[in-house]
Amino acid sequence: MPESNLTKNTPPDPPDEAQDTIVWEDERAMKLVVEMLAGNIVEIRPQLDFDRQLGFFYPYVESTLGIKGEEVVTILESLANKEILIPKFFEKLIRCPQCQSVNLRPSTSCPRCGSGNIARGRILEHFVCKFVGLEDEFVSKGRYICPKCKQELRAIGSDYQSLGLLYKCRDCDNVFNQPMIKWRCLKCSSLTAEDKINEVNVYSYNLNDSRRSWLEFELQPKPQLIEFLKQRGYEVTERATIKGRSGAEHTIDILATRDDGIVSYNIAIGVKIAGDEVALNDIFDFDDKAYDIGIHDKILVVVPGLRREAEKFASLQKIKVLEVRDLETVLASGAPKPSEGIKKEPFEFKSKSQLIEYLKQRGYQVEENAEVQGRSGAMHNLDILATKDDGIVVHHIAIGIEVAEKPVDLDKVFDFDDKAYDIGILDKVFVAVPGLSREARQFAQRQKIRVF
Ligand SMILES: [Zn+2]
Ligand SMILES: [Zn+2]
Ligand SMILES: [Zn+2]
Repeated sequence: MPESNLTKNTPPDPPDEAQDTIVWEDERAMKLVVEMLAGNIVEIRPQLDFDRQLGFFYPYVESTLGIKGEEVVTILESLANKEILIPKFFEKLIRCPQCQSVNLRPSTSCPRCGSGNIARGRILEHFVCKFVGLEDEFVSKGRYICPKCKQELRAIGSDYQSLGLLYKCRDCDNVFNQPMIKWRCLKCSSLTAEDKINEVNVYSYNLNDSRRSWLEFELQPKPQLIEFLKQRGYEVTERATIKGRSGAEHTIDILATRDDGIVSYNIAIGVKIAGDEVALNDIFDFDDKAYDIGIHDKILVVVPGLRREAEKFASLQKIKVLEVRDLETVLASGAPKPSEGIKKEPFEFKSKSQLIEYLKQRGYQVEENAEVQGRSGAMHNLDILATKDDGIVVHHIAIGIEVAEKPVDLDKVFDFDDKAYDIGILDKVFVAVPGLSREARQFAQRQKIRVF
């Protein structure tokens, strides 16, 4: 594959999913999720405590993670933003905008003059003089006497009426329905109008069950798989963005690349996690992407499993499908790691025996003059067939060697490519001494044959 295809760049505005991995950069968030997955806690509930600056805290999180206050809230909120936790409203707190204290007391006042000197009671109106006042103001020695005109009130409905329970301001005589509410801070004593007060919602949190499978994969097998690949010399990129031959950009969940001097391997690993079964469409998508990018080593990790028709398609397209338990088997198998001490030197052809030695050192099983039957039924002879099982993918390399007086012609390379195609080997190496003709070279490049 052309190297330029493999430039990994982060798109400027990644989709939501792309940020998923960021969660795990915070080990504390991870630990909390592990506890929840294990069922050690079902709901993270806040406890109100007005002696604390925040006014509430999460006892479980504080004791489990050994952190306090704001830090806990930041972690919980980031997990909720990633839809890993589901917040549930618990309580609304109000906060003093001056000092952030949650210790506030409502204070009612007159909406006209702002005075707090107001009283609530039955309000009477004297028709004769239009005086309006609290019942208390009229009561005098067991009778109702109007405090303004000093006449006695006689019969309700005829010379006075009750306006009901209302408020009256003792400073400006305003009669009103609703007092203005202000908040007195018990810490800094400042008085804040209701519309200037800060409100804070406090939530309890539950694990989002629809993401349970995904989380379980992210936390356990995935890091192990990445470690497994790294130990085998692969460079691993998560959520690699790669431009395909069509020009479209694709994201591969895990891209593992390794150049062992002879062949450059690229493994596309897709991860599909579904509620019930992974559907055919998901496999199509993955296969299309890999094809467009030009990667033929394809692994699809599926949780929980594949539908039958998807399974058939996957095997037809040579996609290695791993369910989590298969993956666990692979990871536990302790497949051979590349032997230490082998230098990463670029290969330079000197002789066939030197090439074979080079391959063996790198853990390949080497067969010379291998007789292999192709899909057409024809028998083919390969100069060298090198096979290596690196635990997760079995690599087959077809190697053709041509030593001649003058540059090797197209037909030789063409024949070699044909054979490899019929056998179904996609990693192809052609050694030409003294070299290839121009057309042969172009052909080799197009057919992704590595030439030495
Ligand atoms: Zn009166
Ligand atoms: Zn007033
Ligand atoms: Zn305050």
